[in-house]
Amino acid sequence: RTAYLNGQFAPLDTLQVSVMDRGFLFGDGVYEVIPVYSRQPFRLDEHLQRLAHSLAAISLTNPYTLAHWAELILTVVQAQDFEDQSVYLQVTRGPAWPRNHVLPAAVTPTVLIYADTLTPPPPALIEAGVTAVSASDIRWLRCNIKATALLANVLLRQMAVDAGVAETVLFRDGLLIEGSSSNIFVVSQGEILAPPPSHLMLTGITYDLILELARQHGMPHRVCEITEQQVRDADEIWLTSSSREVQAVIRLDDHVVGQGKPGPVFSEMHRHYQQFKRDVMRN
Ligand code: PLP
Repeated sequence: RTAYLNGQFAPLDTLQVSVMDRGFLFGDGVYEVIPVYSRQPFRLDEHLQRLAHSLAAISLTNPYTLAHWAELILTVVQAQDFEDQSVYLQVTRGPAWPRNHVLPAAVTPTVLIYADTLTPPPPALIEAGVTAVSASDIRWLRCNIKATALLANVLLRQMAVDAGVAETVLFRDGLLIEGSSSNIFVVSQGEILAPPPSHLMLTGITYDLILELARQHGMPHRVCEITEQQVRDADEIWLTSSSREVQAVIRLDDHVVGQGKPGPVFSEMHRHYQQFKRDVMRN
């Protein structure tokens, strides 16, 4: 499985980085996960723009131009023997001695790109929906940065696994934020509601696409603060991410959502999402 590390292409299991890498010691880095369908990266420019924002937010100079990023990613994609892929890329600040919180003056960032297989959500899961639990958001106040320091997200996601459900929905100060590794939408009286992007959440590439599709297809939608009570009273709840696409949440904690099955607005949006994917791949 060919991967890329710091200027070299080599089998993933042969790659090594220093134990003094600040990504390892401090979680000092940012990342992206890009879905690839039939060897075509989906929304690549949007992912690379977000990467640029994450890097700027942690005062790390973007090591490559967008064109060079695209070229490296395509080389990794072409080297795999499977078509649908999940490309993982991360940039850490790099190795520095001695260990010190202070940003080192001269340091070369560590850049990793690899591809895993991607299995889009199976039709049975789209038809049945998924379940979720809720928790209060214990993360920091810069969740708009796609940082590799994911300990809080890991612990929150594990709460879902321990409860036998798909995701943990996060609330902060009585407001809906997002999932532990997804964005959350609700449908109330036929209207799609999305929480407003802020430093408290990661604005998903899928989140943006869902709003774009709602606009394109004239589906009523609004970006606004959503209270915990509105979520619990919602007719539909959706989760979105690059790898999970859009899925209906049919139970939150002990409460059935709407009719206990994916709702009509979800079905319409899911259809538009799949159509959009097909159209992009044809072009
Ligand atoms: N929010 C968090 C915390 C995430 O980790 C993710 C992605 O995994 C998302 C939202 C969804 O982002 P995207 O749609 O770009 O995959």
